[in-house]
Amino acid sequence: MVEAGSDISFDSRNQISNTKDAPPPPLGFPDYLPYFKRYIDSKWCYHSSAVATATIIDVQDKFAFQIDIWSLIEQRWLDWDENPYRGEETPNEPVGDIWSFHFNVPITIIEGKRTDYINLYHTQDKTICLSCDGAGIRTCSSCDGAGHIDCNVCKRSGTQANGEKCSNCDGRGITQCSSCGTTGKQNCSRCDTVGWLLRWAVIRVKWFTIHSVLYEQNSTLPEKRIRKAPKTDFCTRDIPWSTDYTLDNYSDLFKYIQQYSPIQFQNHITEEYQKKHLSKADRSDRKMVKLSCSISQIPVKEILYTTGNHINKADPKKGYIFQYCQYGIDKDGFPLIYEKDYPLNCCGCFGERCACQCRCAIL
Ligand SMILES: [Zn+2]
Ligand SMILES: [Zn+2]
Ligand SMILES: [Zn+2]
Repeated sequence: MVEAGSDISFDSRNQISNTKDAPPPPLGFPDYLPYFKRYIDSKWCYHSSAVATATIIDVQDKFAFQIDIWSLIEQRWLDWDENPYRGEETPNEPVGDIWSFHFNVPITIIEGKRTDYINLYHTQDKTICLSCDGAGIRTCSSCDGAGHIDCNVCKRSGTQANGEKCSNCDGRGITQCSSCGTTGKQNCSRCDTVGWLLRWAVIRVKWFTIHSVLYEQNSTLPEKRIRKAPKTDFCTRDIPWSTDYTLDNYSDLFKYIQQYSPIQFQNHITEEYQKKHLSKADRSDRKMVKLSCSISQIPVKEILYTTGNHINKADPKKGYIFQYCQYGIDKDGFPLIYEKDYPLNCCGCFGERCACQCRCAIL
């Protein structure tokens, strides 16, 4: 077993640069507006006059994180298998601890489930075949031992509807049983006529992955936006794990969060781990065998602006101030924008005077 806590890989290129280190060269506030205008112009029904007169009054650095945790759960149980006995060794030793046997564990993140098994030949034992009581042959199940069955044409009457003799059974009302050839007996297929079975224990194992996602942020971005945004890895780890471990084995990860993240969310990771992962492994037939954690981040800028005499009707507490978030980069290389209080966001396509701050009926 690899010791927990080893093999850590942090991506130093993606350290958050403006918490403890020097901040990036400041953009002049107006430099943000062209991106916002591009966003407003792309929105059907928005009118751009409010962005044309907007003045940015503050830009704050915020962060959003997505934390993915995967745990690989292993389930083991005992099964028995059998074959006709052919003179094999029959040590008949006890099974032992089923968790002491070694399996090759799959990777942490698997689709569906994987299974495997180990035959425990040391448990081999000879036992009488209960299907034939050791005789090797048994009563024919088709004719129930009679050797013949009722004629399926005349239903045992021996005559046809017109009163003539049934041609299928020659008037006898019964036909020969084809399953046993009239003997009323069949070879026992379970023991292959031997009368004895070889039985042995089999350890069966099943693996499946539990995945949970947690979001942490000090911005106002909805979780859906964080989920969809392109992100950079903050750190990833994938290590052999045991149900007995606690996340203290991840102490270097927590140290990293403390050092580089402006938000302290290690307690939430611990809660998530206990609730969504550890609790699922808390059964005598299950163990957690691998754990993987990935934390990715999106830098977010929260931008406050005023524009003309517009009052924030979506959030009256803000008065003349509006807010939007600039986060991540879209596929064309432009910043992604999130807002929900742009003043002219409804019916602006019919002219500025029609635009208002309310839910657009068309959208
Ligand atoms: Zn018949
Ligand atoms: Zn038969
Ligand atoms: Zn049998």
